[in-house]
Amino acid sequence: MTKILIVEDEAGLRQGLEINLRHENYDTATAADGEEAIRLFHSEQPDLVLLDLMLPKKSGFEVLDHIRKISKVPVILLTARGQETDKVRGLRSGADDYVTKPFGVQELFARIDAVMRRTDVAATSGKSVCEDDIIRLDPSTREASASNQRLKLSPKEFDLLMYLFKNKERVVPRDELLSRVWNYRVDLKLNSRTVDTHVTRLRRKLQKAVGTDSAVIVAVAKIGYRYLGEAPVPH
Ligand code: CA
Repeated sequence: MTKILIVEDEAGLRQGLEINLRHENYDTATAADGEEAIRLFHSEQPDLVLLDLMLPKKSGFEVLDHIRKISKVPVILLTARGQETDKVRGLRSGADDYVTKPFGVQELFARIDAVMRRTDVAATSGKSVCEDDIIRLDPSTREASASNQRLKLSPKEFDLLMYLFKNKERVVPRDELLSRVWNYRVDLKLNSRTVDTHVTRLRRKLQKAVGTDSAVIVAVAKIGYRYLGEAPVPH
């Protein structure tokens, strides 16, 4: 499920956005100031951020700068009418799009869809289906199955499995997964537990479909993970 971080200090608008997005089946997290936004960006790992610019504690520009130092997660600015220079500055600072308040939810949904499509296409360029005896991944529909059973994967789990699959001939280091799947810059030494948590969830889902004794993704101590493509024979 796509998770959206809503950063808006005006309570009515924040709650309205939350209700509408949840109604559209988005997962949400909300922040009422710039500091909370940065904290939640790290803990919630959203797939997209809706960012108001005029915020208490830290401005939207400071939040955007912080996000762009570590991530390419799409950001849509919520700007006030007449803030033309702010829009330009925001887009130059790496925001993907903006909506001008007051905006209709349909317009917002359309912009979210467009931005997500652009980033999905960028992340999975080359739309060929990945397939072996166990799994099947279709990047155009983002459907995944293992042993002919449909897997319910989050966007990150899908990307992770896809990346491991495409690099199955080698062990993929955690750092590489952080930079390629999460778009994090490795030099910040972000917690590699992020990767471990996602791999653990992914393995659990795979094992449920394939059978409890199998481990189609193996952990290689202190390095990273490797997709085996076949279940090891139990001993
Ligand atoms: Ca505001």
